[in-house]
Amino acid sequence: MRRDASHRKMIEDLERILGPGRVLSDPLRLLAYECDGYTVQKGRPSAVVFPGSTEEVAAVVRYLHRHRIPFVPRGAGTGLSGGATALNGEVVISLVRMNRILHIDYENRYAIVEPGVVNRKLSERTASRGYYYAPDPSSQQACTIGGNVGENAGGPHCLKYGVTTHHVLALEWVLPDGEVALVGGPNGDDIGYDLRGLVIGSEGTLGIVTRIWVRLLKKPAGVRTVLALFDTVEDASRAVSEVISRGIVPGALEMMDRLAIRAVEAGAYPVGYPEDIEAVLLLELDGPEEGLEEQAREAVDVCRRRRVRDVRVASGEAERALWWNNRKTAFGAMGNLSPDYLVQDGVIPRSALPEVLARIAEISRDSGLRIANVFHAGDGNLHPLILFDSRNPGETERAVETGSRVLQVCADVGGSITGEHGVGLEKINEMAKIFSPRDLDYQMKIREVWNPEELCNPGKIFPRPARCIDRQPPLGRPASVPV
Ligand SMILES: Cc1cc2nc3c(=O)[nH]c(=O)nc-3n(C[C@H](O)[C@H](O)[C@H](O)COP(=O)(O)OP(=O)(O)OC[C@H]3O[C@@H](n4cnc5c(N)ncnc54)[C@H](O)[C@@H]3O)c2cc1C
Repeated sequence: MRRDASHRKMIEDLERILGPGRVLSDPLRLLAYECDGYTVQKGRPSAVVFPGSTEEVAAVVRYLHRHRIPFVPRGAGTGLSGGATALNGEVVISLVRMNRILHIDYENRYAIVEPGVVNRKLSERTASRGYYYAPDPSSQQACTIGGNVGENAGGPHCLKYGVTTHHVLALEWVLPDGEVALVGGPNGDDIGYDLRGLVIGSEGTLGIVTRIWVRLLKKPAGVRTVLALFDTVEDASRAVSEVISRGIVPGALEMMDRLAIRAVEAGAYPVGYPEDIEAVLLLELDGPEEGLEEQAREAVDVCRRRRVRDVRVASGEAERALWWNNRKTAFGAMGNLSPDYLVQDGVIPRSALPEVLARIAEISRDSGLRIANVFHAGDGNLHPLILFDSRNPGETERAVETGSRVLQVCADVGGSITGEHGVGLEKINEMAKIFSPRDLDYQMKIREVWNPEELCNPGKIFPRPARCIDRQPPLGRPASVPV
């Protein structure tokens, strides 16, 4: 978008609606909003606005709708598929100022939060009363609950507890024309169509969520965390399937391969894993104390039968926290190995783990790009991290192509192209791997009901060949730079 008279007028109008200091239009400061955690495609917004209430969000949206100006909702921008990226100079509506925990009802076990509340803050706030908010993306120190709703985020403990949609009771939602609606209810009012479920995971394409009613869970009485080191990825994968098939339901069951282990050991929370270990399993059991010890013994026994090199139970909270910090910072730790990485998010049946990991290793050899694997093994949600250097000509394109081949493998074994990171910009062209044109058409018809002109987060999720080709800039380049 050019900085012409109409742009200046828009900035003045938005400042009038929100007041001074709530509209960012300085091109240098807009740089920080060129992308989210998916850095391969960038676009500088024409402005970023910071509303502080539902009324302000609605007023901004009404204005933008009236003037047919497209906009993009944004939380913390930790998304990994480009969902919050303003690829074509849209106005970004940042929800980070709306970060209040509005109400906590311990008796009925729910809280009402604004969308900009950082995920972990809610568990911290309720911890002293023995409660927590279960969905725990590894980015939970930064990502917002609004962004979690946008992506229907998961996390390590979602194996047992479910993803965001299982923990959201109701939503207040500003529609793309500025109307405000309330869907769902704190007591589970599920009569009629489940609009709450529809909005969750819609990646900001159906409107902007401005208040969220979430479940609070009582913290489990006991926890046992088991760490197992394996000499082969195959043995570790087989241990994962066997634990689950024995009827044990771990709170979390995570795995890292050798390259990922190298990265985390060079990071901020090294555990001291042997350098030649091929796979680490982190398994957590939680619930009433009774029976936990026995389940932990059984899990250890499964690992031993799968030729584990070393297996042990955390000696206490400090050791458990170290193991988890080591695992949860794995993506960021890739910076120790490579200037750039692209993280994929394929889902596969658990039983296909050994086969799929072998095929990913083949793709890595073939493409000449290293791939580290860090993943939620218990629910078959893979995160292959493709390491590349965008300064080398053609390498970004090779990384994208490699990611696409990995997702094809996931689709071939009956899995999916995304488990929790969403489609955004990144996987638009991958949708055809699992959906027919007709399937996609059904979904796009839903978007048309509320977002007929596609003003709200345009160009996300769904492939539109003619439009995509027109709109997509070269990889790594901003689509629009205000001058
Ligand atoms: C190191 C790292 C680890 C991660 N680990 C996990 C993980 O374990 N599990 C997981 O699921 N994800 C993970 N992610 C991805 C990311 O953190 C999640 O997708 C998270 O939910 C994004 O939240 P956010 O506040 O950053 O949202 P953003 O990135 O700002 O936005 C995400 C999407 O939601 C939309 N949106 C944002 N706010 C609203 C709103 N109020 N109303 C409507 N739409 C909105 C945006 O338009 C966009 O489409 C990880 C990311 C990183 C960087």
